[in-house]
Amino acid sequence: MDKNFRGTTEEYKEFRKRSNEANRRYYNKPEVKAKKRIYKKEYDKINKDKISEYGRKLRARLEYKERVKNWRKENRESLIKRGKEWREKNKEYKNRKDREYQRRITKDPILREKRLAYQKKNREENKDKIKSYNQKYNNSEKGKIKYTRHNHLRLSKKFGNEFSLSAEEIKKIHKRDKICVYCGFNKFQELDHIIPISKGGKSNYNNFVIACRSCNSSKANKDVFIWCKEKGIEVPKIIIELLEKQNQGVQIISPTKSERDFLDSQ
Ligand SMILES: [Zn+2]
Repeated sequence: MDKNFRGTTEEYKEFRKRSNEANRRYYNKPEVKAKKRIYKKEYDKINKDKISEYGRKLRARLEYKERVKNWRKENRESLIKRGKEWREKNKEYKNRKDREYQRRITKDPILREKRLAYQKKNREENKDKIKSYNQKYNNSEKGKIKYTRHNHLRLSKKFGNEFSLSAEEIKKIHKRDKICVYCGFNKFQELDHIIPISKGGKSNYNNFVIACRSCNSSKANKDVFIWCKEKGIEVPKIIIELLEKQNQGVQIISPTKSERDFLDSQ
């Protein structure tokens, strides 16, 4: 309590509270904030060495390091959440900065070396972690779809055929057929080209059905009508429907720009 204050403790507390509020109001005014910012900038400029020296000393202290580490550990969830929110909000800025950073690294041989060494060290240190993470991803729905998509993209490129198959469409095909359209088996599902890719079949929504591994490899590059006859089964309805759609030239989604570039590149 201030010695010069004439009044009770309660009154003094009330006075402090009011003056604090007034201060807060004053310093929250935009014009005052702007002024403060300019002043701080000037101050930082003049005392640059002093400030960085102070920071260095502070960060070098073990207890400080420990404290930061613990704090980050305790607030991990909220930090991740905040980072995500920030990235979402500043998407353009983040992308631009990332690109700039990548460009800087590719141009600077020292930085490049440094990064390669860091990546190598990181890979070696976290070998098991990376392996289990990759396994988990490859077994997830997203990973499987990506793998399937990439495989078909590669095949289309090899045969020079049209490719337009989004991850969304792969999901749709699985949802539509659910089981092998030829024998009804519900395991080892693969995407089967109705018109074989080697006979000019396109890789798009209307040329794919779900087939089990056995049916798919048995059918291989045979004509679907001939193969069904050989196997002694009726040609599935969905196949007739899709072939009709193909004849009408119905197309769902075109390939993305990067995929078109990939297909055009060779
Ligand atoms: Zn089958």
